[in-house]
Amino acid sequence: MNDHRQSKNISSLVAELGFFVSRSGKLHKVSSMDEYGNYVRLLTKCGQCIAVRNSRRSKAARWIRNGWMRQICKGCKIKSGELSRFKTGH
Ligand SMILES: [Zn+2]
Repeated sequence: MNDHRQSKNISSLVAELGFFVSRSGKLHKVSSMDEYGNYVRLLTKCGQCIAVRNSRRSKAARWIRNGWMRQICKGCKIKSGELSRFKTGH
């Protein structure tokens, strides 16, 4: 049996947390999400539309699951209290 957390794909992580970490390691707040096929399309608070494979093992899934990020998106206006789960430095 897989560990339950390990089995979560991007859409379930984003639905749960409301955040997405982009390819460059930037943390965005997600305002809406659409799933289509194997892909998930995210609209961030800062107005970007990001489409990614709805994977369990991609870098983005791993980073979100582990609470990793490199930088915070300024456009998303994330409150410091919301960042308790995330940590920089990876
Ligand atoms: Zn953003």
